[in-house]
Amino acid sequence: MTKFSEFGLDEKIVKSVKRMGFEEATPIQEKTIPIGLAGKDLIGQAQTGTGKTAAFGLPMIQKIDQKSGDVQALIIAPTRELAIQVSEELYKLSYDKHVRVLAVYGGSDISRQIRSLKKKPQIVVGTPGRILDHINRRTLKLDHVETLVLDEADEMLNMGFIDDIETILKEVPAERQTLLFSATMPDPIRRIGERFMHDPELIRIKAKEMTALLIEQYFVKVHEKEKFDVLSRLLDVQSPDLAIVFGRTKRRVDELSRALDMRGYVAEGIHGDLTQAKRMSVLRKFKEGKVDVLVATDVAARGLDISGVTHVYNYDIPQDPESYVHRIGRTGRAGKEGMAITFVQPREMGYLRTVEQTTKKRMTPLKAPTWDEAFAGQLRIATEKITEIITEENLADYKTVASELLENYDATDIAAAMLKMLAKEPDQTPVHITEERPLPQRNGKGGKGGGKGGNYRGGYRDRNNSGKGRRGSNSGSRDRRYNDNRGKNKGSYKKSK
Ligand code: ADP
Ligand code: MG
Repeated sequence: MTKFSEFGLDEKIVKSVKRMGFEEATPIQEKTIPIGLAGKDLIGQAQTGTGKTAAFGLPMIQKIDQKSGDVQALIIAPTRELAIQVSEELYKLSYDKHVRVLAVYGGSDISRQIRSLKKKPQIVVGTPGRILDHINRRTLKLDHVETLVLDEADEMLNMGFIDDIETILKEVPAERQTLLFSATMPDPIRRIGERFMHDPELIRIKAKEMTALLIEQYFVKVHEKEKFDVLSRLLDVQSPDLAIVFGRTKRRVDELSRALDMRGYVAEGIHGDLTQAKRMSVLRKFKEGKVDVLVATDVAARGLDISGVTHVYNYDIPQDPESYVHRIGRTGRAGKEGMAITFVQPREMGYLRTVEQTTKKRMTPLKAPTWDEAFAGQLRIATEKITEIITEENLADYKTVASELLENYDATDIAAAMLKMLAKEPDQTPVHITEERPLPQRNGKGGKGGGKGGNYRGGYRDRNNSGKGRRGSNSGSRDRRYNDNRGKNKGSYKKSK
């Protein structure tokens, strides 16, 4: 394991890294930082949450000449959220060196961005469309760029940004260092490497090196109709601090977040159809812990750095193993433990096996909790909460009335009443979730043929599985933060305080 002081980075940079609480480099950082510092081109592959931003950011910051007001580094990222996230990370990494970092992205006031560009940022992070826009308006000059980064390249490819990127590349001097990062390495990405890079070094950190240690992976065999009750009960039993539920479609995300809300969970959904403002506010609430359950589609959650996610629920098993790896990568990030639970319909077991072949790890079967178990889980949480209040809070103001209660009632009855108030009975409020058919059956165990070709566009038929939903009456507000009885961090790159 390499310490950040061993790379030969500027002292000020090492100081900023320390302040961020990083103790040692992650595998991708260990391998790529020296290449970045040597000025060589690089293709880096590692799943999300492995610290790729610092991997390219640290050598980049080292090279910045503070006396120059030129844009010296350009990072292209697929979405606004990612651009913002990368710019925030770079800002922190360069805090002591005082580098000016700016994010430019669509959906935000362009004249304000133009004013910010006039303040001479040295690093610009942006989405392809908005970068092009600024190039065309001549508000962004790239002729002094020395480092170019394509972040989440595969995602940019999926989103159809390839032409935009080529156009941008033409504006950047050919004499430059190009770094490409991607979670997967399909052929078109390799070809970008061949066309736009000089003899790039290929660094690949295998998914299993990251996932295996830190994420406990389970699956629950469950029929479509029962999925939602199973999800509610799992939430009751496991009481995650922060959970993400993945659904296959936008409609699913909408329906699930509404249904969770009806059953008394604090849930919000994000998907591509929401406005940027809405997505950002949902994410902010989630990061601040004001939302316990985030429901998302793959695309919406891709690459976002949300720390502290303890549980990932795959309400629908993803079609391809790579999505699976990305989804569960939302938890267990940078050395923290996490748990992933995948719902699989009996006919979809073939998909599960394909995922296992990719991650080289078997998932542990988990039985859906019963109503009793869910209730027991809630009682345990309520008990923990009471214990915590007794041990940590000042109860002087309550004691007089408490003694009066004790004179009139049996102590056990009082305690039971408190538990009843605090513990939420597993909620069975009827909800409406449109059924989705299982993924098409595959012939041949884990046969490659099925892979992407699964391409399921089948007509969905709407079927109400229950009457109209009504608001849960017993959804007394619960503070799920009291419930963390998970183990301490075991990860190898712990953040120090
Ligand atoms: P990626 O781009 O691979 O998805 P990020 O660069 O977004 O990953 O990093 C994920 C999280 O891990 C961020 O919160 C980041 O601050 C943190 N992180 C990065 N490197 C380290 C490290 N060496 N030690 C601890 N945390 C780290
Ligand atoms: Mg990243």
